[in-house]
Amino acid sequence: MDSIVPEVKSRLNIVDVVGSYLRLTKSGTHWKACCPFHNEKSPSFMVNEERQMFHCFGCGKGGDMFSFVQEIEGIDFREALKLLADRAGVEVPEHRRTGILTQDGVERPDRGREILELTTKFFEKQLREGEGSKTALPYLRKRGISDESLATFRVGYSLPGWRHLNDFLVSRGYDPDELEEVGLVIAKDGRAGYYDRFRDRITFPITDIVGRIIGYSARVAPGSDESQAKYINTPETPLYHKSRAIYGIFQAKQAIKEVGETILVEGQMDVIACHQAGIRNTVAASGTALTGEHLDILKRYGNGIRLFFDMDGAGQEAAWKGTLLALGKEMSVSIVVLTEGKDAADAALENPEALRVAIRNAVPAPEFFLNRFADRYDISLPEGKKMVASDFAPLLSAMNSDIDRNYWRQQLSSRLRVEERALIGVLRRSDEDRARDFGRTRVEAKEDVRAVGASFSRRSDTVRDSIIGLLLSEANLLKDIRLPEAVREYLSLDPIYTAIVAKGGVSVTDSFSDEAMKRRAAGLLFEADKFVSEEKGYDFELRERRKGVFAELVSQLVSELRKEQLTTLAADIEEAKRNGDKKKEQELLGRLSGMTSKRG
Ligand SMILES: [Zn+2]
Repeated sequence: MDSIVPEVKSRLNIVDVVGSYLRLTKSGTHWKACCPFHNEKSPSFMVNEERQMFHCFGCGKGGDMFSFVQEIEGIDFREALKLLADRAGVEVPEHRRTGILTQDGVERPDRGREILELTTKFFEKQLREGEGSKTALPYLRKRGISDESLATFRVGYSLPGWRHLNDFLVSRGYDPDELEEVGLVIAKDGRAGYYDRFRDRITFPITDIVGRIIGYSARVAPGSDESQAKYINTPETPLYHKSRAIYGIFQAKQAIKEVGETILVEGQMDVIACHQAGIRNTVAASGTALTGEHLDILKRYGNGIRLFFDMDGAGQEAAWKGTLLALGKEMSVSIVVLTEGKDAADAALENPEALRVAIRNAVPAPEFFLNRFADRYDISLPEGKKMVASDFAPLLSAMNSDIDRNYWRQQLSSRLRVEERALIGVLRRSDEDRARDFGRTRVEAKEDVRAVGASFSRRSDTVRDSIIGLLLSEANLLKDIRLPEAVREYLSLDPIYTAIVAKGGVSVTDSFSDEAMKRRAAGLLFEADKFVSEEKGYDFELRERRKGVFAELVSQLVSELRKEQLTTLAADIEEAKRNGDKKKEQELLGRLSGMTSKRG
């Protein structure tokens, strides 16, 4: 571990790593982009190539390439290490790959994931060679799914009966309550014992972004008890969260990144069939409607989304809600319409070319719904116009971009042949609804974290942060300028400062094992860089400029500390007076005069 991290860092450039997720543009000595971790319109996310660190001035996220990958992929340090090591061509010893490796290099076994991996292999075997090869496998083949696709998506089969999986896993040394924790078995009501959750079903494993199994969606097997729910899913577990789980994301993410957009379909079979037809940027929300969290994940890979649902009542409702969510995230959202009412799976397997055309011709969602509403009412009548406008209004309200909203308001008015002014009443009502629903959270989200922080922190802390930031960029400043005792003492309370003294400047961040500390260090460093570059009046070399700023800050800190000491002392004297503690008052006054006489 100790040698792997620096090895990976030396082979990779943070600009390339971050650049594979975001479009970075060069700006002076930095690279910048709109932050992927908070919503913003002008870029405050910076990457510093020289320092190999990033920092967002908006939301405060920051750190090195490992911090970035952990944050954007939603994975732990071990997975980030594996991912970046693979990319750098650095061998990670196999024993490091099992278990959960924390940033401190502590490894603990990851039993839950082991169990799910083993279970998936068990299910796969049952489909290919076991019971499943008689009914489930022929069914899948008949639907046109190739063996290669089955292998890619690790489709399997769970045996009928109540205890097959339970007994198999227990025989491998796992406890039933461990199996329950990952959602594979259900505790019997009242009596002791457990039974299998998935029985006589085709199993579709759901993975996280790096391909580890987190749960299953399982379809009732052909010829099985059809009165059962057609699909059942893993319940919420420590590993599986349906509001974040995306079926096919591991297989699709590269393609999504390449084309910049996702195709969202309804079910597992649709995803597999689309991939098989070469449409690899396809995923599905699994066991739930599309959520904002799903979109946050997809948006990292590309800003476009094409919704491809059955246009029955439920599908249309899902498309409408998905559109509202995606517009709120300023994603470009369109609707794929198939002329014949087929589902995605059949279309992909029967006529992939026609499907590709349909995807290419997807209609921008606002246009799609405007058409739909205009067909629904008689828009030659004022009443019809009003109905269309009020049905369409929630879409306009959901749009976060003013340009989009103005454009589609114009479209609405020209379609209805009414002046935009006439629409205002209808649209405003909807805006008010939205303000009531979303207003609070939107305002809260926009609050400037730094400003709030600054107003609550002491001036001396602010100056201290600037000093430490400068030292991170140039530890040699400590040799150039002697720190007064009081300043040194005060700074020594800060762990980043003590690390700098022990190890030197920028490289010190490599030794931080704590993400929060890394983030703070990155923030201080970037703030200091900004501060120095904005500081006019120092017309020297950068090093000299830093020195000037540093000296100035140190003397500021001296006077701030002194001021704060005086304020505290004055308050203490007041308190002693109030309490009638003459002795204490005298002692404090003596200290006060000692302090003030030292002045100058
Ligand atoms: Zn940010």
